[in-house]
Parts: sequence; C-alpha cells; structure tokens
Amino acid sequence: MPRLPRVASLVLLGALLAWPAPAADRGADGRFDKRESSHFVLYQDVDIDRSGGWSGSVRFERDVLASLERGYDQLDDLLGLRPRRRLPVWVYDPGIFDAQFAGRFRFRVAGFFGDAIRVRGDTAVTVPISRTLHHELVHAAFAAEAPSLVLPAWLNEGIAEWFESRTHGKRRLSPGEWSYLERVERGGAWVPVTSFAYPSFVGLRADAAGLAYLESYALIDHVARRHGEPAIARLVGELIRTRNLDRSFRKVTRMRPAELEAALREELR
Ligand SMILES: [Zn+2]
Repeated sequence: MPRLPRVASLVLLGALLAWPAPAADRGADGRFDKRESSHFVLYQDVDIDRSGGWSGSVRFERDVLASLERGYDQLDDLLGLRPRRRLPVWVYDPGIFDAQFAGRFRFRVAGFFGDAIRVRGDTAVTVPISRTLHHELVHAAFAAEAPSLVLPAWLNEGIAEWFESRTHGKRRLSPGEWSYLERVERGGAWVPVTSFAYPSFVGLRADAAGLAYLESYALIDHVARRHGEPAIARLVGELIRTRNLDRSFRKVTRMRPAELEAALREELR
C-alpha cells in the first residue's frame, strides 16, 4: 500500500523549483516586535509603523491575532487538530513582503512558509484576509502536529479551502461553483488532482491551479456531504496516526482517493 512521501520529497520539490531560501526574517532594518496570544506568537516588522501609522499597525496586529484565535477555536471541532505550542506568525512591511514572497504564495496577503504564517502588513483584517489566515492556519497546524507528514496537494489544499469556507459561514460548494465544475467535467477540462503527487500546486499554470484548488475543495466537500462533517476530523486523525493515505480514506469513506474523485466526477456529469 503506498505510503505518504516524507519530508525528503518536500525538500526535493523545493530544490526542483529552485526556491531561494527565505531571506531570513528581516524587517527593513531587521527589527521585529513580538506579542503573544493564547495560541500564537506574532512578530511584526517595526518599520510598518512608518507606513501604516502606529495605531493602524497595532490594530492590525491585534485583529490578525483575534482572527487566528477564532480559527484556532474551530480547528479541533472541524479537523481534530489542536497544536500545543504557540504557532509563529510574522507580519511584514508590504514592500518587504512583496520582495521576499511575491510569486511564492497563491494569496498575495499571506502564506505559510518555513514553519510560520507570513502576513503582508495592512491596516484592517478584511474578510478575504481573515479567510486566508484561516486557510494558512490549517497548513501551520498540520506542520505543528505532524511535521514529517507531507500530504498531496489536493488533500492539503482541499482541507484548507474547506476549513476557511466553513469558518466563514459557507458549508458547501456554492451553486455557482457546482455549475462551473459541471461545465469543466462535461467539457473534458477536469484536472485529475488525486494523481498529482506533489505537495503543492505551485508548479501548475495559474488557471489550472485555480481549478485544482476548487476541485480539491469539492473532493473534501464530497466527503462531508456523503459521510457527515465529523468524517473530515476522523480522516485527519487517521492520516496523522497511520500516515497511510489509502488506508485512511478506505477506513473513513470506504474509497481510495482516486475512487472518490471518480465518484465526484460521476455526480457532475
Ligand atoms: Zn494552501
């Protein structure tokens, strides 16, 4: 039975994509302030104060932590994840963030990289920023609870997309997303995601990556619809315990991932 690739393959992928090492955690002058909440430790580039104004930047830090704490409160219920150590969060001056991380993250406002959530400094935590923080929180929580577990991209991103939707009041694929996927399937444009073994969609073209994220979300949504939402937390628990993708899916859904994808596509035809 195939086992999940370990961290070595992630290192290999990183080398293949020739990602530069992060230019360390440096603000414009290398100074960061630190503050903590119950489950996070936040480092903020002190130079943001120059661009955002002191009060704006303090409010942004506080709101980032509040949003992440709200996400943390639902991690256990929805995914059965409960990282014990405080998760690191770095907030950067926007120019520094763009210089260090442009093109590396799918989202322009935040990403998970090098064991920490990286956030582009701003003045207010909007709904899209909050959703992105909850998405990245899932990656951070997996990394904290199971550091050597490397999930395939569709599972990693599908769970993160499902969680960010769920914590922002969206329980299912929207009718628009469903009909879009119907058109994709009927038009022969489906991207087969469960056979894509890499831990990230970063190598795909932008349009294919956007579709791959939506299909991955649809697969997790399919599990929640067929087996109930608690099945997602059971699946996460099995994956962390056994590190065996096929066995975990068979136990919870009675299907292998490829069979699950075939069942979803059948629904869409
Ligand atoms: Zn992601």
